[in-house]
Parts: sequence; C-alpha cells; structure tokens
Amino acid sequence: IYGEKRRNSRGVNLNVRSHYEPLMKAMSGFMERSYEVGPLLAFEVERNPANVHEVFSPYDRRQRVGSVQWTSRDQAARAVDAAWAAFPRWEATPVAERAAIIRRLGDLMEENLAELMALCSREGGKLLTDGVDEIREAVDFCRYYAMRAEEQFGEPLELPGPTGESNRLMLSGKGVFAAISPWNFPVAIFCGQMVAAAVAGNSVLAKPAEQTSIVAHRVVELLYEAGMPRDVVQLLPGDGPTVGSVLTSDPRITGVAFTGGTDTAQIINRALAARENAPLPALVAETGGMNALIVDSTALPEQVVADVIQSAYQSAGQRCSALRVLYLQDDVADRVIEILRGAMDELHVGDPRDLGTDVGPVIDEDARKNLLAHIEKLKGEGRLLAETHLDPAHTAHGTFVPPVAFSIDAIDALEREQFGPVLHVVRYKASEIEQVLESINAKGYGLTFGVHSRNESFAQLVAQKIRVGNVYINRNIIGAVVGVQPFGGQGLSGTGPKAGGPHYLLRFATEKTVTVNT
Ligand code: NAD
Repeated sequence: IYGEKRRNSRGVNLNVRSHYEPLMKAMSGFMERSYEVGPLLAFEVERNPANVHEVFSPYDRRQRVGSVQWTSRDQAARAVDAAWAAFPRWEATPVAERAAIIRRLGDLMEENLAELMALCSREGGKLLTDGVDEIREAVDFCRYYAMRAEEQFGEPLELPGPTGESNRLMLSGKGVFAAISPWNFPVAIFCGQMVAAAVAGNSVLAKPAEQTSIVAHRVVELLYEAGMPRDVVQLLPGDGPTVGSVLTSDPRITGVAFTGGTDTAQIINRALAARENAPLPALVAETGGMNALIVDSTALPEQVVADVIQSAYQSAGQRCSALRVLYLQDDVADRVIEILRGAMDELHVGDPRDLGTDVGPVIDEDARKNLLAHIEKLKGEGRLLAETHLDPAHTAHGTFVPPVAFSIDAIDALEREQFGPVLHVVRYKASEIEQVLESINAKGYGLTFGVHSRNESFAQLVAQKIRVGNVYINRNIIGAVVGVQPFGGQGLSGTGPKAGGPHYLLRFATEKTVTVNT
C-alpha cells in the first residue's frame, strides 16, 4: 500500500515449511550468542563493570542473553550536548536524504529478521508469530514515516494570497527529542518513535526499556549501518527515573515521545513543566488502557470466543490494546462462558520458541508477582470462571502466569490496568447498555474498544458513544496496522496524534509561515 519504493514489509507464514525452516535455521545461529552491549553515544564510552546489568530470558531464567551497561547521569547529560550540537546540521539535511536512511533501516531490519526475532524471543519472551509481526510493524513504520516526511516536509505548502501577498507554510524539525519506550514492543514502538522524530529533522535520544535494551541496541547499530550520523540518534539504555530525569529536566529537550504506563507519563509531564526558561515542550504520550468489548445477544458466540482469546491472551495479554473487560449480555453469557472455558482448556502455555505455544511468559518476576497478587485476590472472592492449566514441564523456570477469566460486577471494581493474561467478565441486561457505556467512559481511559453484534445500528451507536482511539466491530481488538489503522488513545490513554497515522509527524515539527509582500 505504500507505493513502489514504499512497499509493505515482507510477510512470513510460519505454517509454511519453506518459510519456517530457513528462518529457524537462520535464528539458531543467534540463540546461543551472548550480547554484551551498552550506550551508543556520539562519544566513546568505557566499560564500567559497576553499572553492567545481566539479562536472562523470561521463559527460562537460567538462560543468559548477555549484559547491558546502563547510561550514567553524566553520560546522559553529555549526550544531550551532542544532540543539541547535531540538530542544526541534521535539520538542514534534505528530507529525501533523511528518508533514505530510514528506508534503509527498514530494509536492513527485514534482512536481519532472524536475529531480531531471536532477540525478541530471548530477551522479551515473544512468540515466533509475535516476533514476525513485531519486526514487520517496525519496517512499516520506517517506510510509512519516510513517505509521509517526504510528502509533508518537502516542498512548502502554497497558501491563498487574497491580500496580494504570497504565503507559504513550511515544516522543519523542532530540536532534540527524547524517545522513551516500553518493553512490550521492543522493536516496533522503540523504532517507530525514533524514526518519526529523526525523519522529521530532530536529533534523538532513544531510551529503551530496561528489560529490552539488547534488541534496541541491535536496531540502532543497523540504523548507523543505514547511514545515520552517530550524534543524531544516540541510544541511552538504563534506569528509567535516572536517565529519564536527566532528559526531561534539560531545557534543551524540545519534545518527548513516550510510550508506557500512565503514571510514568504523568511524571514526565510534571518534569517537563517544572523546567525554568525552557521552551514549551511537545509531549506525545501513548499509555495504558482498560479496554472493553461489548457482546449483545445477536453476536455469534464461537466468533466472539475466538476473538476474545486473541484479544485477551495473545502476547500473554501484554499489549496496551489487549482486552481487559468483556461485557456479555445476559441471554448469551452462559453460552459464551462455556465455549470460552473450552477454548482456554486448549491453550498451551510455555516456551515461546515452540510453534505449538499459544501463550508465552510475562516479562519479569515483578510483573508475575503483581499479576498473581491480583489473581489470588479475585480467586479469594470466589470469582474465578476459567483458568488455563500450567504444566511445570514447560513453565517451571520462567515467569509464567496462567490465562484466567474472572467474573466482576462492574469495571469500577478494577483499580488499575492489569498488564497480563487476565480477563474480567461483566454480565449486563439490554436495558443497562447506557450505564455500561457511561461507566466505561467514566473510567477515563480511552484506548481500544470492541463490539460484537449483528445488529448494525446497535454496533454503530455504541461505537459512536464510546470515547476511545480505536473501535473494532465484529473482530478482535488488537494488532493495528501502520497506515491503515492509526493507533493511539485519548484521556488517560494518551495525547495523540496516532502512531502510524497521517498526522503523527506533525507533532515532531515546527510550522513556519512566510509571507512576502509581492
Ligand atoms: P513504564 O512506564 O514502566 O516504562 C516505559 C519507559 O519509561 C521505560 O523505558 C522506562 O525506563 C521509562 N521510565 C520509567 N520511569 C521514568 C521516568 N521517571 N522518567 C522517564 N522515563 C521513565 O511502562 P512499561 O512497563 O515499560 O510498559 C507497559 C505499559 O506501557 C503499559 O501500561 C501499557 O499499556 C503501555 N503501553 C502503551 C502503548 C500505547 O500505544 N498506548 C503501547 C505499548 C505499551
């Protein structure tokens, strides 16, 4: 869909032997390798053993992936100096050159699919299918933003001249952007933020999540190979509050692209606002959700369950778009729950490198503990509807959480986003639909939402009343596609503009109008 030199990322069908076998063979070379990485800055960084952190696989904590040297406060401050100095030269670089580098990164990621997938799996615990989708999304981000940058930052826009003057509107970079990303899409989101900021003409300080810095390091190496100057994009792995506070308190940071928890976005927002003598910053925040799906009595139960399983449990529920609250109209609730139980019995939880696995591990021990505490609490209240069995033969050494479904009375019972394979089910009566919509809206989040109904006017009405960024009717609620389903929420779920959408780059740009008295 992105035109000739803007082609979509290449698909891989793991169910086809001619795709699967060569990929597995290529990946095997990267499954044992040990990666010892650190910051990638405009200046040399010495190895400092005191600040090196070991990385182990979420599916088997005995398996070492490598180590990451975290960025010190002093190095982060010097990186800002270098980014600030690099900005004027980069901003003056023609957009076609900037876009060419970003496209080359997309091509290089496609060529290095096997290694990036191996790292997504070893470091992030990703299933093979999720790994393919992840890299494809990152490649699509590169090609889409390169295309949009050429369209939007190329020739100035000629505006009407009713006063006899000529008027032109032009876009350029803003300055230095911090790009702060989460672990759950360690290539796609990391890359999307970074390339959007860079192709728009900004220098970038990319701060990956603590848990997934090795794969981010590999992507930035590929970006340098694609021709990106080292002072224009720098990689600052490290502790969020430490590195983050250096970046967000510096008056030279003109913008932050952040994806992660709502609480963290609020900390960043406050830090940016507290700076004295600093320009008003741009903040693009994409945060959490409490995503709901409403099922009315006309829906097809089998299709509902297939879509619920994907939405709630794919990627072990570690997607910001994942389904958290399933609303079932009373008349169909028992039937849907019965089929759901059967489907959950069939899920296989285990090693993400095994093609037969449906649900992999959660990211780390902290995540597992938090999820298990929530699960134990609801079990204690007698609310369990269904639970997938964990076989210790496949799960004993990793951070696994069983897919579960609980019945709750209302969305109000949930205090915070549970970022894992935990589904909550609410029964409602047809007469209560207005209250249901109001209570979802009142929660304040607004990321994804779904409706299953064969009553078209009902589905449209509900879609119109709900305040979210992405609505899905009669399908699952995850897996937005770049350039097709621009992604992002509102309220507590984010600021917009939508990632992978036509307006995204504008938030990374300065607009200048030039009027000439002719
Ligand atoms: P997180 O907020 O804990 O961390 C995200 C990033 O922020 C990390 O790089 C972290 O190091 C950094 N950080 C932490 N404290 C900081 C501070 N004080 N200053 C600056 N940076 C700081 O989130 P996470 O656990 O990595 O990711 C999961 C969350 O991300 C979930 O809430 C999920 O819903 C959300 N998410 C949202 C989207 C979206 O598009 N809306 C996409 C993916 C994930």
